[in-house]
Amino acid sequence: MEYTLIQTVRSSVLFQALPEGVIRVYAPKAMRLRDIDQMVRERAEELLRMGQAVDQRVQEDRRVHPVTDGSGILIEGVPHVIRLFKGVNPGGEVVDGELRVTLPHPDSDPAVRGVIRAALSARALKRVRERVDHYAPRVGRTPGRVAIRDQKTRWGSCSSKGNLNFNWKLIMAPPQVLDYVVIHELCHLWEFNHSPRFWALVENQMPDYEVWKKWLSVHRDEMYL
Ligand SMILES: [Zn+2]
Repeated sequence: MEYTLIQTVRSSVLFQALPEGVIRVYAPKAMRLRDIDQMVRERAEELLRMGQAVDQRVQEDRRVHPVTDGSGILIEGVPHVIRLFKGVNPGGEVVDGELRVTLPHPDSDPAVRGVIRAALSARALKRVRERVDHYAPRVGRTPGRVAIRDQKTRWGSCSSKGNLNFNWKLIMAPPQVLDYVVIHELCHLWEFNHSPRFWALVENQMPDYEVWKKWLSVHRDEMYL
């Protein structure tokens, strides 16, 4: 069972099941990894059931609240209104505070979500490439392949080969947040860890990075489609 571990100043362990099989474990800083792992293993079945219940609620919520003409969505930190149009060629464009979505079946919620996801992923890729091109010379490293992924638990990642992946949902956040994640992954090309040296590199590029890092943790559940 895969889970994301968040070690903080706390006295007990908290298990959290999120949609799509994501498990978050909040544990005291001093607790040993082995013990945490053991606790997760003992609760594996329970956590699986919790996750399934969450997924059911999400499905139900989507059924009760489909994306319709007039729904809202965050794009680059700004609330936009979704407008649905019937048309043969599926696509979405951002115009004057609106996300105009065209597709053959605008009454199909999964189809609408699919077109929005594709349109925003394309927008995210364009923006991420621009920002990587902007920051790579400043950080002093050239990444390998830069791609957009539908990642469930991560905003960005850097492989040992120097390839960078970014979560398409970053396009929902304010531009500074996307910049922070780009800088974060580029700095991993120097420091493949989260040591004080790594954070000093990040801070060098973005002195107020903590503001945007915090924005992500506060708003992560709103960046969702
Ligand atoms: Zn990192």
